[in-house]
Amino acid sequence: MNPVVAIIGGGPAGLMAADVLSHAGVKVNLYDSMTSVGRKFLMAGKSGLNLTHAENWNLFLSRYAAQEKNLTPMLNSFTADDLRTWARELSVDTFVGSSGKVFPVNMKAAPLLRAWLHRLRGQGVIFHVRHRWIGWDTQGHLLFSHPEGEKVIEADAVVFAIGGGSWARLGSTGQWVQEFQKQGISVYPLKPANCGFDVSFSSHFCERFSGQPIKSIRAKFVDSQGLTFDEMGELVITQSGIEGSLIYQLSALLREEISRKGIAIMYLDLMPNHTFEQLLSKLNQPRAKRSFSTHLKKQLGIDGVKAGLLRETLSKEEMNDLEKICHTLKALPLTLIAPRPIDEAISTAGGVNFDELDEAFMLRHAEGIFCAGEMLDWEAPTGGYLLTACFATGRWAGLGALAWLKNKENK
Ligand SMILES: Cc1cc2nc3c(=O)[nH]c(=O)nc-3n(C[C@H](O)[C@H](O)[C@H](O)COP(=O)(O)OP(=O)(O)OC[C@H]3O[C@@H](n4cnc5c(N)ncnc54)[C@H](O)[C@@H]3O)c2cc1C
Repeated sequence: MNPVVAIIGGGPAGLMAADVLSHAGVKVNLYDSMTSVGRKFLMAGKSGLNLTHAENWNLFLSRYAAQEKNLTPMLNSFTADDLRTWARELSVDTFVGSSGKVFPVNMKAAPLLRAWLHRLRGQGVIFHVRHRWIGWDTQGHLLFSHPEGEKVIEADAVVFAIGGGSWARLGSTGQWVQEFQKQGISVYPLKPANCGFDVSFSSHFCERFSGQPIKSIRAKFVDSQGLTFDEMGELVITQSGIEGSLIYQLSALLREEISRKGIAIMYLDLMPNHTFEQLLSKLNQPRAKRSFSTHLKKQLGIDGVKAGLLRETLSKEEMNDLEKICHTLKALPLTLIAPRPIDEAISTAGGVNFDELDEAFMLRHAEGIFCAGEMLDWEAPTGGYLLTACFATGRWAGLGALAWLKNKENK
């Protein structure tokens, strides 16, 4: 008898599990709550689909921080290069950008998703959209809500790839957490990752500069446990604080510090290519009849949002103190008071505790049920690391389900 596998969730992880299983001839039914699959993947392609990263592999693995060890076998078995080969097999070539990030040549997700779905349908995968998984019945069968009513589904094995909890309008609501916890499965609460933060800025500052980027700066942060971050990059002022790639990289440290201490104080070096002495010497040049703002702009190129930040930080009196200004330009303190809500985050931290999973990503206490993707308890910065781990863990769980079914058949 041919086994049937139910996959719940049609994002990168679920589609990858469907790919390996259907390629091996297993009948796959894939269920998704939305009217079509891969919504978040398509959204990721809107501003340039960053599929993976071409940096040194050990550095790549270190991006998964506390979960590096748990994810290394999956990532070693489906590396950044393997991901690029996989895309090429779907007729999508990739290139390495100047930062090392890897993108499809046309930057979009749609052609890749289209070709992938075509292949999956050809391999016999059946897509059941508008099927929202709502839990298990008393016999352990899967329960779905569907516009025509509730459905009970049986399967020989199940792969959950149901996503995290951000951007709920794209399908992943995180509602599964409660259902898993009801079964006694340990799941860490979902938290915002790669997110913006509220900062103690005046409303005047936010209104004036919201949407404006601050480029070529250095962010420095040391948390209360001594963990240090010191990187160049850029951020953007929002209506209530800051966001952007530099902040996303730091978001895990900042989020945890706020949860411990109530606030997190980070420092911006607005002039990373100048020393304090160089800045002071430039500002000490005679300014004749120029206003101080013009002098700042002419000598240091500080105007617009950078000048706004300086005035937001220093009092009127301090703005007459050149040494104080130079110190502040080199280490401007920002007090972060809260991460932005989970729904606005690029991804989520938290999820199924790795202790619940065996080496094949099967739940230790629920035979035949596998998990993959962002629903697992790992996080990583933006840079292609999120998608790479979703693909790699989806593939791993699919292969795990395949091996488990074969083993069962041979018993
Ligand atoms: C704006 C944005 C840009 C991003 N850009 C990038 C990027 O460039 N590079 C990168 O690496 N990462 C990026 N990401 C992150 C990346 O898209 C996600 O990490 C990845 O899609 C997660 O894959 P997944 O398969 O685990 O979950 P998802 O992609 O979230 O898929 C889960 C699927 O499960 C379905 N589902 C949820 N609940 C149920 C239910 N109860 N019943 C049935 N189906 C359900 C959902 O509809 C969804 O289709 C971006 C994210 C966002 C929001």
